[in-house]
Amino acid sequence: MSSMSVPVIDVQNNNFKELWPALTLAIKTSTFIAVDTELSGLGSRKALLAQSVEDRYKAICQAARTRSVLSLGIACYKKLSDKAPHTYLVQIYNLTLLCMEDYVIEPQSVQFLVQHGFDFNKQYSQGIPYHKGNDKGGDLQNHTIRALFLEVIRTRKPLILHNGLIDLVFLYQCFYAHLPEHLGTFTADLSEIFPAGVFDTKYASEFEMRFTASYLEYVYKKCKRENCKLASLGGSKPYLSLEFCSYTERQLSYVDFRHCTEEHEENKKGEGASPAVCPRFSAYGWCPSGVACSLSHNTDLIIEEDEKNMEVRRKKKKKKWKRKGTCSECPDVLEGAPPFKQVCVLDPEPVNEAKQAENGQPGEEPMKEQNVNMEEPAEEEPPHEAEGQTVSKTSHEGKAKTAEKIQSITNKQSESGTHRAGFDAFMTGYIFAYMVSIQEGAELDTKVEDCLPDCLNKLYLSGKSVPLQIVKSTYSNSSKAHTQKIKLVWS
Ligand SMILES: [Zn+2]
Repeated sequence: MSSMSVPVIDVQNNNFKELWPALTLAIKTSTFIAVDTELSGLGSRKALLAQSVEDRYKAICQAARTRSVLSLGIACYKKLSDKAPHTYLVQIYNLTLLCMEDYVIEPQSVQFLVQHGFDFNKQYSQGIPYHKGNDKGGDLQNHTIRALFLEVIRTRKPLILHNGLIDLVFLYQCFYAHLPEHLGTFTADLSEIFPAGVFDTKYASEFEMRFTASYLEYVYKKCKRENCKLASLGGSKPYLSLEFCSYTERQLSYVDFRHCTEEHEENKKGEGASPAVCPRFSAYGWCPSGVACSLSHNTDLIIEEDEKNMEVRRKKKKKKWKRKGTCSECPDVLEGAPPFKQVCVLDPEPVNEAKQAENGQPGEEPMKEQNVNMEEPAEEEPPHEAEGQTVSKTSHEGKAKTAEKIQSITNKQSESGTHRAGFDAFMTGYIFAYMVSIQEGAELDTKVEDCLPDCLNKLYLSGKSVPLQIVKSTYSNSSKAHTQKIKLVWS
């Protein structure tokens, strides 16, 4: 379990029909489904971070009506009941899409996507076409993306997202129906569309797991590290274990493998000092300098540093308590409070972000974490190293060495990989499955949606301490478009 190859199946217009049976079977037989989207842009950051949640909703709706979903990642997790507890079969799909209506493309978003391997040639030549808003003739016949979305709804399984509000608004507008005008109507609709519940792993990481940072890659790697520790105990404690399909030769031609090595283990082996981590990236998973930043954006190093800091803090606290004559073993109220990196910056001056957005700079925390750099390329080193050829060069300093090492470990595909949405969906599902696995009494026969009751139907709201609840309140009715459509879904 220390290293794994994660297969992501690339779905596009010329193989969509062929892959349809496998894709819909994976959806139907799943225990839960994790989803992620890549978007052509989000519009004004200021509006997206408005104080009033209703205003935020309106801004996201405006973005969803004028922008489009470029790719959709679906990760189907199926619990294998004949295996050890918390063993899942995972099938991951990355669908390249093409909105057939005019839509706004934001240069910054596109630039970022291109830098991270998004292939716009492929999108325009092989994207699966779709129309936004309400169904038009033929939209729900087989082999359309809207029909696929209905399959996701029909399976009535929990839907897992990371920072999911934006995804949900875009999914609704692009593949379901015209968005309702009010947030209350939207959440009422959602509660009927996903009766098994929606889980937001960003909300869960901040308010359940209380991790230091909550951007997707950080949380995923943190969970993976914790899970590896549990797995090394040899079964005395339950741990998450994943299986992937063995694909046929033909299917393999559509599969991209993402190699995930336990980099922290590799780092330990290498001697020399680690490069300094970028404080911005460390806190938000994003930094304005992007790939040009001279500091490290390596999430494994960042997590290691956070763990070291936690340890130092813990020791200091112990000493302090001892001085005060208090028992160091006694539970401490503060102990449980995580040093939220984000809160320090966001909470005292939430206006700051809006100001920055006004000045044309992106907000502190990228909305929807669009700018998260999956694998930091080592800027001083040639981009591609042969596998296994790690520290052969005469590096002038530890930094280059480590960077080179990391570069050789993170596979070439991580740079050229065009399946960000697919892999992001996989990571999102992993976090959820891990969280379920560490719950007390998460027995084999317990439904996953019952394992995390405190996170059920709660969506993360940036800069707010309360989540957005997906409920049908007594004051809000469902939308007309939804009421008509949902009849069709269940028929
Ligand atoms: Zn940086």
